[in-house]
Amino acid sequence: MSQRLTGAADSSIADVVVLGAGIVGVTAALELQRRGYRTLLVDREGPAAGCSFGNGGAIGPNTCTPFALPGIMRKIPKWYFDLDGPVTINPGWALRSLPWILRWIRSSSREAARSSARGMRFLHEGCLDSYRDMLGPNLYADLVREEGYLYVYESGRASRNELFAEDLRRELGIPSHILGADELREFEPSLSRRFHRATLLPGNGHTVNPKRLVDTLFEKFTAAGGAFRLAEATELETADGQVRVLRTRDRALPLHRLVLCAGVWSREFARHLGVRLPLVAERGYHVTYTESPIRLNHKIMNGSRGFGATSMETGLQITGTVELADADAPPNWRRAEALSRAAAAMFDQPLFGNRTQWMGARPSLPDSLPVIDRAPGFANAFLNFGHSHWGLSGAPRSAKLVADLVEGKHVPPEAVAYACGRFG
Ligand SMILES: Cc1cc2nc3c(=O)[nH]c(=O)nc-3n(C[C@H](O)[C@H](O)[C@H](O)COP(=O)(O)OP(=O)(O)OC[C@H]3O[C@@H](n4cnc5c(N)ncnc54)[C@H](O)[C@@H]3O)c2cc1C
Repeated sequence: MSQRLTGAADSSIADVVVLGAGIVGVTAALELQRRGYRTLLVDREGPAAGCSFGNGGAIGPNTCTPFALPGIMRKIPKWYFDLDGPVTINPGWALRSLPWILRWIRSSSREAARSSARGMRFLHEGCLDSYRDMLGPNLYADLVREEGYLYVYESGRASRNELFAEDLRRELGIPSHILGADELREFEPSLSRRFHRATLLPGNGHTVNPKRLVDTLFEKFTAAGGAFRLAEATELETADGQVRVLRTRDRALPLHRLVLCAGVWSREFARHLGVRLPLVAERGYHVTYTESPIRLNHKIMNGSRGFGATSMETGLQITGTVELADADAPPNWRRAEALSRAAAAMFDQPLFGNRTQWMGARPSLPDSLPVIDRAPGFANAFLNFGHSHWGLSGAPRSAKLVADLVEGKHVPPEAVAYACGRFG
């Protein structure tokens, strides 16, 4: 079935059009191409233009903790007032945030959080192996480090959330090790002495450059005969239970099948298919110190303040925090400033060097799980978005699941966790 598409990337001869060339779209396109589908990838900017550009790079088979945990309700009032805190709600978004906050609260019961953790576990397990398989051993060694994650804490005693996360890991058979202050010093000598303890999560990895990871997979896709079209999609046209046309700014692309992978921007296109989802932008930031002398031995998560520090090939990258706001509103660089102040307090030496900064919009649903499903009522439209904080980790299995759906195969029973009807 596989045949190289022409440079014109004619959608009428493509078996599948994938909309969105972030990590989720590129891995899905690669998987479909591998399975013999002539695949056309469409993006308005090119690979890794959205949230996949500058994220924290974590690729964690052993990650399973959802964002909404028991006790979230006590924290929410602060989010409306503390504009520099780990989580904040943009004042312009305060009223619109309410329905979503309510869903977050509903997802935070012990039972709901357990169910999300199982969904995350199933999606993330084996993700490093999948990247090795997609990239081949040399590119994998160049792009990925398997150093484990170190969650570091300022307080001497574990919080209720930490204990709950520990329970989740135990229930799902995920190993972790508690380190005291002395051991932590040996593991990460450059960290400040304000951290008294840590939890090591072995078996996890990170990419040294999320943008280059997506670009490399994109090159694999095109080398295998996949086609790309640079175009901004504006609308989907449907008729008789089929999605027929993808309208872009300058033309109408006829469709045989569509896989929607446009991150947070998928919400409007899903609506054209009659699917309404509580998908919002959880915006996050990074600052990268391009000439920092600090080299970390692990990916560090500051468990007390909700951000991470990672040695990337671009420098020391400080990444994280959450801001509920419009995905396309101008970045609020005050958040990056706050991140950089908090980062400076993490280390004993200054974070020298030039600094770059970036904002990305996580495509998030309240239960921290994506939607991977066929659009109800449509034989040829498939949904694959909403990977929130964990798109790098969840992309490979999502690609396999959505390709199974395209092929009309049965997906494993665990995939019910990603059904688009779960929000009612
Ligand atoms: C600060 C921060 C740190 C993070 N850290 C991690 C981490 O360590 N590990 C991890 O696994 N995840 C992390 N994430 C989350 C991860 O980045 C996302 O889950 C992931 O990038 C989502 O990928 P995506 O392909 O679904 O969306 P995106 O990468 O946003 O891609 C969507 C694509 O759709 C295209 N598009 C949108 N609208 C249109 C249109 N109308 N026409 C054509 N094209 C369109 C965009 O140009 C874009 O290329 C982090 C996120 C942030 C913000």
